Amino acid sequence: MDGFEKLIFPLGTKVQNSYFIGTVWVETLVAYDKTMNCAIYNVTFEKCARNNWHKHPGGQILLVTAGKGYYQEEGKSPKIIKEGDVVVIPPNVKHWHGAMPDSFLSHIAITTNPDKGEVEWLEPVDDEYYF
Ligand code: MN
Repeated sequence: MDGFEKLIFPLGTKVQNSYFIGTVWVETLVAYDKTMNCAIYNVTFEKCARNNWHKHPGGQILLVTAGKGYYQEEGKSPKIIKEGDVVVIPPNVKHWHGAMPDSFLSHIAITTNPDKGEVEWLEPVDDEYYF
């Protein structure tokens, strides 16, 4: 995959679930621990890959480490995100994130306050929003 040689953290394993469109890789960097009260993942989307709309009960912070992608909150236009960008997603804000149609995206995903509950997965992102 073009650009994967730029990855700083391990690619991890392919995600096998129905909450993503396309190929997505996840490596757990810091597992959830009650004392630290966060969990940290390296998430890499191949081009055209994205997650479904979803909400994090305790919020999420994305640190983009390579490539280019989109971040969209419900009711707003998609934002282009790229290496070096930081996205702070407040608790319970409906959103999705993923790669662009012509570029992969790799970001660190910090699950803040995971004790507030699991991700609430919603509907897939329509191609009319994406392309
Ligand atoms: Mn998210």
